[in-house]
Amino acid sequence: MRACWPVLVAFFALGCHVQNGTPYDGYAEARERMVRDQIAGRGVHDPRVLAAVGHVPRHELVPDAMREHAYEDRPLPIGRDQTISQPYVVAYMTEQLRLRGDERVLEIGTGSGYQAAVLAELAREVYSIEIVEELGERARADLARLGYANVHVRVGDGYRGWPEQAPFDAIIVTAAPGHVPQPLIDQLAVGGRLVLPVGGLDQELLRIERDATGIRREHLIGVRFVPMRGEAETQE
Ligand code: SAH
Repeated sequence: MRACWPVLVAFFALGCHVQNGTPYDGYAEARERMVRDQIAGRGVHDPRVLAAVGHVPRHELVPDAMREHAYEDRPLPIGRDQTISQPYVVAYMTEQLRLRGDERVLEIGTGSGYQAAVLAELAREVYSIEIVEELGERARADLARLGYANVHVRVGDGYRGWPEQAPFDAIIVTAAPGHVPQPLIDQLAVGGRLVLPVGGLDQELLRIERDATGIRREHLIGVRFVPMRGEAETQE
């Protein structure tokens, strides 16, 4: 019986070993297809972004019942009426932040923690705020379990950003307010980029950049996110 242990240990270790920097976890093929067909195939080209979405185990961040659907081309429910965004939207928004590796990034709407994990692969520190305590706690635990030590999750209303950690080189918002929250613009570093959906049922994705002379605003694509809760609703 004793002789079986090394064999058993080797067998289980195979379930999650790392191959060429990519985790081999039984979902590797589905993830590769997702990157090729849904993301690169639709025009996201930044190789660092493609590597990041090819690496983050999305199936580890969705509820167990959703695991087998984790790499499908759609948003998925993550509980408390919230959703994890479609993989393409995560990759597209991430590319718009133009991360190079040394940034401090703020995310509003931690949700499952998936977007935060993608950011953590691409930037130095990620600060993420989630208004639903249960989701924030779960994401914090999942991200720690997956080894993302550079993600800091706070439970609260993200409308006013995270002033103690400002300024940020990049800010991403994954719940839609009806207007751009001024505190988030104020927390952008010079050269910083803010990507957020704005609107009601029909929303558009905006990229706002701060340079030495002021603020530039650019319209990107039409999107549909859950509404931003809290102060955003009373400030409409
Ligand atoms: N980025 C997430 C998807 C988020 S869905 C992911 O990768 O899974 C939007 C999230 O924003 C929800 O979890 C919702 O609870 C949260 N949210 C809504 N209003 C918020 C607010 N004012 N501050 C922080 N989080 C908020």
